[in-house]
Amino acid sequence: MRDFASLRSPQVSELVSGESILIQPIGAIEQHGPHLPFNTDQVIADESARSLVEHHGEELDLWLLPTIAYSKSDEHSWSDGTIWFSSTTMLAMLDDLGRCLARLPSARLVFLNAHGGNSSLLNVACRDLRRVHGLSTFLLHPFIPPDQGGESADTEQGLGIHGGHLETSLMLHLRPDTVDMSKASPNLPEQLQTNEFVRFGGVSGFGWLSDDFGPDGHIGDPTSATAAEGKAALDAAVEMLAGALREIREFGPRRR
Ligand SMILES: [Zn+2]
Repeated sequence: MRDFASLRSPQVSELVSGESILIQPIGAIEQHGPHLPFNTDQVIADESARSLVEHHGEELDLWLLPTIAYSKSDEHSWSDGTIWFSSTTMLAMLDDLGRCLARLPSARLVFLNAHGGNSSLLNVACRDLRRVHGLSTFLLHPFIPPDQGGESADTEQGLGIHGGHLETSLMLHLRPDTVDMSKASPNLPEQLQTNEFVRFGGVSGFGWLSDDFGPDGHIGDPTSATAAEGKAALDAAVEMLAGALREIREFGPRRR
């Protein structure tokens, strides 16, 4: 397994080259409704990155960095147990990370993000790290959230953005002992289904907090989730990521 943190220091110059790609998984520790654990996004980031590096690490010269568990989860700050960085802390942390990684022979850094609340900030960080530290930076999601153009289950009206069918299926596959399906219920805010413009993925963005849509904190319909769907979704995501990385491998510009 190409696990970067398990290397000894002399191995860096032997094994990590200018062609290597660093994979930085990013999760979150945040409420996911009454049926899923705090570490849902951390588990999804970690497991998809591991599977990617396990299956395609040699082919694509990938090195897996340790998963960042905490991230920018201020939309869930109302819920005790959510542990979050502010946007300024998160950007500062990513800048520090870029400074350290820019010392390595590898020129390319890929954020593999499993928490939709990070996406805007990670795009900002990608450009900052490109400009300030000279790295070629990329942002990939194992699963693009429906409010950012990804798909949602047919039962969810495009609203499966947090603790819904997909995340619940993934956790039933990856950590079934932490899921309580007896607490799973649909939460599909009607206004967001009927609005033409002010909706997830609509022309008007809005600064939402997850308790704006009900007291439970999830948004979507987890009730028909299955472990089999979770496994199929994860396998498909890993192949999609490998395809993206084949293009990243050939993509210029390189290190400045
Ligand atoms: Zn999540």
